Amino acid sequence: MRRSGRTEAGTASRPAGADGPGAATPAPATAQERPRPAPVLVLNASMEPLAVVDARRAIVLAIGGKADIVHENGVAFRSPSVTIQAPTVLRLHRQVRVPRRGRAGLSRRAVFLRDGHRCQYCGRPAEDVDHVVPRSRGGEHAWENVVASCRRCNGHKQDRTPTEAGFELSGVPRVPPPAFWLLVRAGRVSHDWRPYLAPYLGDRWIATLDLMPVT
Ligand SMILES: [Zn+2]
Repeated sequence: MRRSGRTEAGTASRPAGADGPGAATPAPATAQERPRPAPVLVLNASMEPLAVVDARRAIVLAIGGKADIVHENGVAFRSPSVTIQAPTVLRLHRQVRVPRRGRAGLSRRAVFLRDGHRCQYCGRPAEDVDHVVPRSRGGEHAWENVVASCRRCNGHKQDRTPTEAGFELSGVPRVPPPAFWLLVRAGRVSHDWRPYLAPYLGDRWIATLDLMPVT
């Protein structure tokens, strides 16, 4: 799991409330600023996507000299002694060990995101998740056997395989790559992230970015 081991990346994932006094607080500086701080993508020194943190934590990393700001979104953060542009992408100065990631949680949200919020049998908006091979027939609760589906298909299929129900899957359900979890956790994304995520998501998964709310 991601939280195994205490690394700098793990520290970066902590809630911002753990920071000490003197941390910068958001303070709009111009009328053009966006009202809501965007989540920040943290890259390892090698440029590999590592974590997503809130803006306040990102500022602390930047002010503390642990990371460089690679992209900023024009929102100014101020503390009594420092004014800094809020980052959307940070790069750590020092390479940190990436915790070994097992298969991340098979949440409904993650399955919907992977499947583009579409029923994998008929293409209608997804409302449910379905075990391709039903659990009652020995099907596993695993990425390769779970798909987004609409209620109608799910109800029609019941405890049958797709073939038995006369269904055809629109694609082979696959395990998402590790960088996908950053998106699931972030919930919303910045356009600035795309070039840094693309090499780790590949063509098949980079399209996920287009399905997410943009900050
Ligand atoms: Zn359907």
